[in-house]
Amino acid sequence: MPTSTSRAFHARRPKQSGFKSTHNSRRSSKGNGVRKAYIHPSKFINRTPAAARAVEYTPTHLFNDFALTSELKSNLAAIGFTKPSAIQDQAIPLVLDGKDVIGLANTGTGKTAAFLLPILSQIDPRNDRMSVLVMAPTRELAQQINDECRRFSTGMRIFSTVVVGGTNIDRQIRDLKREPHIIIGTPGRLNDLLNRKALRLDDIRHFVLDEADRMLDMGFINDIRKVASLLPDSRQTLCFSATITPTIQTLVHDFLKNPETVSVRTGETSDHVMQDIIEANDKMHKHELLKDMLAKDEFEKVLVFGETKFGVQRLSDSLRNSGITSEAIHGNKSQSQRQRALKAFKTNTVKVLVATDVAARGLDIPNVSHVINFDQPATYEDYVHRIGRTGRGGAHGTAYTFVDKR
Ligand code: ADP
Ligand code: MG
Repeated sequence: MPTSTSRAFHARRPKQSGFKSTHNSRRSSKGNGVRKAYIHPSKFINRTPAAARAVEYTPTHLFNDFALTSELKSNLAAIGFTKPSAIQDQAIPLVLDGKDVIGLANTGTGKTAAFLLPILSQIDPRNDRMSVLVMAPTRELAQQINDECRRFSTGMRIFSTVVVGGTNIDRQIRDLKREPHIIIGTPGRLNDLLNRKALRLDDIRHFVLDEADRMLDMGFINDIRKVASLLPDSRQTLCFSATITPTIQTLVHDFLKNPETVSVRTGETSDHVMQDIIEANDKMHKHELLKDMLAKDEFEKVLVFGETKFGVQRLSDSLRNSGITSEAIHGNKSQSQRQRALKAFKTNTVKVLVATDVAARGLDIPNVSHVINFDQPATYEDYVHRIGRTGRGGAHGTAYTFVDKR
């Protein structure tokens, strides 16, 4: 049981339970000079999570009701998509209608299909080469979008390619020369290719900003602007995000025309995640406590967050040395290494995935039993994002955060 575990690890509820004191102005500078906002430990505690909401969304359409092509419909049936999720239900008709759309929905609710399906349905394989551009914040996310795209478009003779950093650019240039219908990329690499005149955006008719909030968090605004400035005015623009922030509003104002907004966001995912803190004396102690926890059966599929690329790799190595199966995912790994690590975790070949925030962003990692913040997140928003990896789709989730013993 989670409660007994936390008790065993001397978790103690701090006196102050002011959940409002998010970003105290006190700032501490830790490790590598990374400046973190101070987050009161009480923010990491919620021992009585709301009962997992099993609110079933009743769609007003079935996939068969949409004006999607028949090939697409039979592919959906084949992969087992029977009814649309809320965001799909509401966004697909608008996208099919050619509208610019802002789609807001929690992580894991099917935003990818909400834009891919209506776009795929509008592509004429013979005439619409280089007509779709999807921008995503990370390599992994771009890859995942491409995987979904291939699944949906099986047998439709629609081709897509992924252009992201950390992989051979010459090969991507060659891929682009073959003029795929769909280009999926990260802002940095797309600009790189534009600078080398290896990418032509004249025929883009659908432009998608996926995880727009994350792209802005990661400082891609100028890259996005540059790409957008080279797109034809007549294009359709879709912007998907889990949160709506003032910066997103600006982005939307600059790049979208009379957009329709579909918001199906429900309360923070974190509301139904059991959350607790674990006090530790120092780093050594944290290592010991973590290993003790991971030795337990109930810690089935555990996502551990660390602050630095180096620290994450070292932690994963140390777990392996103690006989706990683990993989690491961080920015110093090549694309194929990251892919392999993620796959090993998804398929339960390893029990633990140790990750940095950036590397984990946007990944679809189902059924994580526990999220452990070995190092505290830099912001409360990062925290919410981290623990959103557990307790998905109404499942029971648990999150622990290591804090300094006082
Ligand atoms: P988001 O982008 O909102 O975080 P994703 O698009 O990554 O969510 O979807 C999460 C998971 O749900 C994926 O594995 C996807 O294949 C699956 N999924 C999406 N839509 C449906 C649906 N209508 N029926 C069944 N599974 C779905
Ligand atoms: Mg997504």
